[in-house]
Amino acid sequence: MHDEPRMAEAALAAVTLAATVCRQVQRNLDDVRRILKDDKSPVTIADYASQAIVARELTRLLGEEPVLVAEETSTFLRDDDHAAHLDATLAATREVWEDCDADSLLRMIDVGCGDTHHHGFWTLDPIDGTKGFLRNQQYAIALAYIQRGEPVIGVMACPNLSRDFNAPLDEPDPVGSLYLAIRGQGVEEFPCLPPGEASRTDRARLSRPMRGEHAPLRVCGSVESAHSSDEGTEAVLAAVGGGNERVRLDSQAKYAVVARGQADAYMRLPTRKGYVERIWDHAAGALVASEAGCFVTDIHGRALDFSKGRGLEANTGILCAPAAAHGALLGAIEATRPKA
Ligand code: AMP
Ligand code: MG
Repeated sequence: MHDEPRMAEAALAAVTLAATVCRQVQRNLDDVRRILKDDKSPVTIADYASQAIVARELTRLLGEEPVLVAEETSTFLRDDDHAAHLDATLAATREVWEDCDADSLLRMIDVGCGDTHHHGFWTLDPIDGTKGFLRNQQYAIALAYIQRGEPVIGVMACPNLSRDFNAPLDEPDPVGSLYLAIRGQGVEEFPCLPPGEASRTDRARLSRPMRGEHAPLRVCGSVESAHSSDEGTEAVLAAVGGGNERVRLDSQAKYAVVARGQADAYMRLPTRKGYVERIWDHAAGALVASEAGCFVTDIHGRALDFSKGRGLEANTGILCAPAAAHGALLGAIEATRPKA
């Protein structure tokens, strides 16, 4: 890919700007809820604003509309019954895109309706971990470039994730963490600051610290029990033995927490047959973790296959961990899996 550095810088700028707006909406959670009389409205607004901003920034910085496969479409906001949501989204977007009007906003959201039948495309989760966003806990803005079925650039903003390992994972940090991974070139960590405030000298290359061979495993998973099987996780950890610890946090921030060595694994065990993981829920995070030296596979040890469209159709669940922990957990998953 000849334009890799330029694409990576554009992705970083786009995601940082989207994070600025998400953080601003989050500061006003209760006001937004009150005005729109809808508990989920803050995440709805931040989701659409984030997607529009990323689409617009990529277009502006790369000189043409990108092929973008993103989670949202503008249908909800185009409905006359949701005019108040449209107004609130417009107000949020204008934080960073001052002269944005409703038509441009809706058009930019729909830039995200690209399809996956290209040899290269972007995929975006404008807000991953919507429940975490609403609880003022962890969420991520995750953007990746997929080329021939593999993520080659991954940018992930975790606006509430402290860079300090001693900070509680369930409390918001005023600065947050930002990651840029490029295939074959490693991963960097930055403070998640608005573009003007970011000091690029603060960027640091991530490499996972070595863990003691017999140390207990810290395994992270979803807060939402509908997204990963609690029962299965308990069984796997019991099979591995050794007083292991579970850590719960929302979103792809889990990949970052493993990549930087704050936890030893991210495990996502299916709660129901037939659920297909979405590419935007994993592409950026998986590249961040693999470029930091982790193995990222499904629960059968198969590499994640991003060539099957909008879903990881060829995979089941997720297991991300450095080699030794990955091997141990894979064995335990196999040993504890209900036999069909
Ligand atoms: P997490 O924050 O790890 O709980 O993951 C959030 C993501 O879970 C959302 O972006 C959804 O796309 C995804 N999701 C929704 N339903 C399910 C399900 N039944 N199993 C696994 N993931 C799901
Ligand atoms: Mg998501």
